[in-house]
Amino acid sequence: MKDVYTIADLRDWRAATADCDPPLRLAVIGDPVAHSASPPMHNAALAALGILARYTRLHIRPEELTEALGLLHGAGFIGINCTIPHKPAVLDAVDIADDGAQRAGGVNTIVVRPDGKLHGFSTDGPGFSRAVRESFGVDLRDLRVLVLGAGGGAGRAIAMQCAGEQCPALTLLNRSLDKLEPLLDDIAKVCPFDRISSGDLSDLFLKLGLANSDLVVNCTALGMKPGDKSPAPARHIEARHLLYDTIYVGHRTPLLTAGDTAGAKGANGLSMLLHQGALSFKIWFQRDAPIEEMRRALLSRFDSPAK
Ligand code: NAP
Repeated sequence: MKDVYTIADLRDWRAATADCDPPLRLAVIGDPVAHSASPPMHNAALAALGILARYTRLHIRPEELTEALGLLHGAGFIGINCTIPHKPAVLDAVDIADDGAQRAGGVNTIVVRPDGKLHGFSTDGPGFSRAVRESFGVDLRDLRVLVLGAGGGAGRAIAMQCAGEQCPALTLLNRSLDKLEPLLDDIAKVCPFDRISSGDLSDLFLKLGLANSDLVVNCTALGMKPGDKSPAPARHIEARHLLYDTIYVGHRTPLLTAGDTAGAKGANGLSMLLHQGALSFKIWFQRDAPIEEMRRALLSRFDSPAK
């Protein structure tokens, strides 16, 4: 069995995976995809429940996406997760997309129906909501939330989730202001306008945003690379803040390190990865996922606590 399969493998899936038992019937598609931690997490769940199927990675480039989606049913797939950069394109490509995927502006979970139709969902927002409750013991509806990087895919899904759960105040900041405009239009439909503020990542907006928030969520890419700075400066972080970094690299991210100086509680994105994955599993198999087995598989991959 390979770590990563390609469109060439998908064109002749049974031959390419003839050595795989149980068969590969679930996958994450992305570009890049080799880093994805979803296979060990889902394979632990499948094994724990005795389901005779395995989950793998498919490296699909944007120009290969339409062909890949068309091959899934014939190859015997049950379901797919989508990661960067495919979520928005899959929303347009599936036969039916549920309301959550429409709100999130992207699909992270596909069900391949027996008739070959593709049904799209997004579990990113609900997965984030569960991760916050698990990490901090408090619900989004009781938190004033600041989303850093709200103009990106994860930022949009999280902002829409916060608005849908009627959090008392929502501040949306993004490096490129123009990317916030479509989100602000959509969010105004589910959240009273006087609860929403927006701006760029300048020091003034960061200072105001932090002063008026309880939960700070990093949805920017800042923290993925060594040497990245914190998306929010340590001088504006207070001990009362709850910091959630959607990044789930093994090391403590710059935002969480900045929070340590102030004595603020922090959590990394491993719990969001876990809960969005558990919700995908439930959509595919119509049963609760064995979440502790999935958590153990993730923790052993990253060798760091999902805190
Ligand atoms: P995306 O759609 O490409 O969005 C990237 C965001 O990062 C945009 O808001 C972008 O701002 C911002 N950004 C990039 N470089 C920046 C910089 N140097 N300074 C300030 N802002 C910068 O990506 P995505 O899918 O939303 O992913 C964003 C993050 O969420 C990633 O770190 C990813 O690991 C994480 N994530 C985690 C989970 C999970 O389950 N834990 C799930 C999904 C995503 P501009 O609009 O100005 O370019």
